Amino acid sequence: MIIIGGGLAGLTSAIHLAREGYNLLLLERYPYPHHKVCGEYVSNEIAPYLESLNVTLPKTVAIDTLQLSTKQGKLLQTKLPLGGFGISRYAFDNSLYKRALALGVSVKFETVKNVNFLKDVFNLDTENENRYSAKVIIGAYGKRSGLDKQLNRNFINKKAPWIGVKAHYDLQEFPDNLVALHNFEGGYGGLSKIESGAVNFCYLASYKSFQTEKNIEKFNSKVVAGNKFLNHFLRNAQPLFDEPMSIAQVSFERKQAIEGHILMCGDTAGLIHPLCGNGMAMAIHSAKLASERIHTFFKNSDYTRAQMESDYRKEWRNTFRRRLQTGRVLQSLLLSERATNMLMGTIAKSPGLIRSLIKRTHGKPISL
Ligand SMILES: Cc1cc2nc3c(=O)[nH]c(=O)nc-3n(C[C@H](O)[C@H](O)[C@H](O)COP(=O)(O)OP(=O)(O)OC[C@H]3O[C@@H](n4cnc5c(N)ncnc54)[C@H](O)[C@@H]3O)c2cc1C
Repeated sequence: MIIIGGGLAGLTSAIHLAREGYNLLLLERYPYPHHKVCGEYVSNEIAPYLESLNVTLPKTVAIDTLQLSTKQGKLLQTKLPLGGFGISRYAFDNSLYKRALALGVSVKFETVKNVNFLKDVFNLDTENENRYSAKVIIGAYGKRSGLDKQLNRNFINKKAPWIGVKAHYDLQEFPDNLVALHNFEGGYGGLSKIESGAVNFCYLASYKSFQTEKNIEKFNSKVVAGNKFLNHFLRNAQPLFDEPMSIAQVSFERKQAIEGHILMCGDTAGLIHPLCGNGMAMAIHSAKLASERIHTFFKNSDYTRAQMESDYRKEWRNTFRRRLQTGRVLQSLLLSERATNMLMGTIAKSPGLIRSLIKRTHGKPISL
């Protein structure tokens, strides 16, 4: 069995399946540890599952409060129904990697350039000119990759008009238990603490808005700082990275959970809008769903590949469709000034509404 991509989805499925006794090869582009553009707030939905996999994380920061602000500086605060924790991707992915190694997963740092399925077997080529074969493949290679082109996936030809920017900062006054989401022209930024006590600042902005300034420093000072809370943050926090990291061509188009007989997991199967703070939980949860289907496929000779694919597709849709839809609606509201003001006004009068919106974009803690 081969897993393409060693982010949260790929590493979690590797751990899950290695515990069931399978021999696995995981192919990942970059050696660990490495930073990633991400808000680094993880929903507690996946806490019981991670515990059951015996994954040891460094001391994380418990987060139970959400702040939201509009461009004009209206601020709202609420308790998070489920809550979560703050951890850097540098530490999170590396902890999962160590657990996978301890379970005997073979990890190779190679970039997969194509996959073909013929006579019930996958053949896969890497940029190091190695070829590997497997009966089952999990695609966990994230938001966008050359492989999506090779597999001729629909979303890859559509516009992906978003960029993501992230860096760590030192700002002692920032509360440990808070995740803050602040709106600015053409985007929004999240602030929350990670295990080291640093504050992660990560934002998503439309190209249209970013193009007005074209570089991160100017964009931060002219556009992002248009929100007074972000202005305060940028003026007072000390950057801990030499420069912020960025990713381009972020797409929220619909994707398929099965493509070319590959079981797609995490962002490879679908990316929820980051304002929901739920992408990492979905990546880990989808790894569980795929691993369970694969285990049934190998253990039960009557269970066909077609059944495995159809069951995974259904489970994926049933588990995640509603949150993806709610995420789409919330993102379009947040990026319309009028709609955001109306929404914030309604929420201010009825605080239960925000908690119900949050619940609609989050799952319940995974039952085992
Ligand atoms: C701006 C922004 C902020 C976000 N904030 C949050 C947040 O606060 N909370 C939250 O829960 N979610 C957040 N998300 C979403 C979250 O980052 C993703 O949902 C999550 O990283 C998905 O994990 P994954 O394992 O699917 O993909 P990834 O973590 O991207 O892993 C994919 C891996 O595949 C590797 N890879 C790619 N191509 C190949 C190849 N051809 N061969 C081999 N390896 C390959 C990559 O190197 C990478 O390590 C945010 C997303 C964005 C864009």
